[in-house]
Amino acid sequence: MKEQDVTSLASLTVSTENTSGANANEGSSKLIDNKTNTKFLTYSFDPSSYMQLSFPKEQMVAAYTLTSGDDAQGRDPRDWKITASNDGTNWVQLDTRQYESFGFRTQTQRFNFKNPKAYKHYRLNVTGISDNRVGANVLFQLAEWRLIEVPEKEQTVTAASATVETITQGKYTLTYVDRNTGVLPSVKAGLIDAFKKNYSKSVDTYNPNALTSIVFIMDPDYKGVAATFGGGVVRYDPAYFKANPLDLDVATHEMMHIVQAYSGGAPGWVTEGLADYERYRIGLSNATANWSLPNYQAGQNYTDAYRITARFFVWLEIRNPGIMVKLNTSARTGTYNNGAFWPSETHKDVEQLWDDYKQNPIL
Ligand SMILES: [Zn+2]
Repeated sequence: MKEQDVTSLASLTVSTENTSGANANEGSSKLIDNKTNTKFLTYSFDPSSYMQLSFPKEQMVAAYTLTSGDDAQGRDPRDWKITASNDGTNWVQLDTRQYESFGFRTQTQRFNFKNPKAYKHYRLNVTGISDNRVGANVLFQLAEWRLIEVPEKEQTVTAASATVETITQGKYTLTYVDRNTGVLPSVKAGLIDAFKKNYSKSVDTYNPNALTSIVFIMDPDYKGVAATFGGGVVRYDPAYFKANPLDLDVATHEMMHIVQAYSGGAPGWVTEGLADYERYRIGLSNATANWSLPNYQAGQNYTDAYRITARFFVWLEIRNPGIMVKLNTSARTGTYNNGAFWPSETHKDVEQLWDDYKQNPIL
């Protein structure tokens, strides 16, 4: 017996079908058509749903491949398990994965596990997707799923690609994931500390209905510094934190984005200015990280965002206590606009306020 892809011998059933049917453009038949540029897509992700391949006679499957879809990384499988059965009633778990990710579109990844027994039925149960959401209007997609029979003496195990730890602080939960990046333990400790001390502060100040469960992922597939995605997921770039292990209040900035939960309509300078304002307000180690708000210089504008806007916001808050909370609320509720917000709060428009700031930028 040699290793071989046995997918074509099986028949596929799925617990949740594409609403246009198995043979539609994005129906389940595309999952096993051996083409990575077609995909199976469903419109309401259910973590209990499964895809099942059933063979006429038992196969000793000990590896599989998954191929990500051609777009929208948020719809990729993230957590899943493989189970097997001979009678279709009693299932045994063969492989489980948490916090996997696909680094690019239509990427095929292979996962190996040990399985000394042949089974007729194999199930892939995707329990979580990349953007950490479930339910109606949450799309799931997968381009290809293939099963590989492997002789027992050739079977290997693909190492877990992440360590996962759950941290609880009051009513808030952080899932901390490190995808085997080798980032210093002190970075992990510092980011967790920022969660413990700062998340509830931002929630209490700006949005008591913010998510109670959030996720930090130290993720080699994310390039940048850090960014917040749907579902309260923050991805951190391990290369950045290897070079800048003290810059831990990046977490304070990103957690503010989770709290903001703007659904659109707020200008980027408001969103990023407020996140750095919050980092300035409650950051735990800004000085250690050599992070501060730059003094006003000619040529700056309030629309520059980040620290330049944050300093302007600090100046505004000193003169109009409470205005930052109101700014956040108007941005979150979608009522913010440049022309109305500032005059209603200060009797001046934002250009006039910026001119005042330029004249006397003292904090
Ligand atoms: Zn930001």
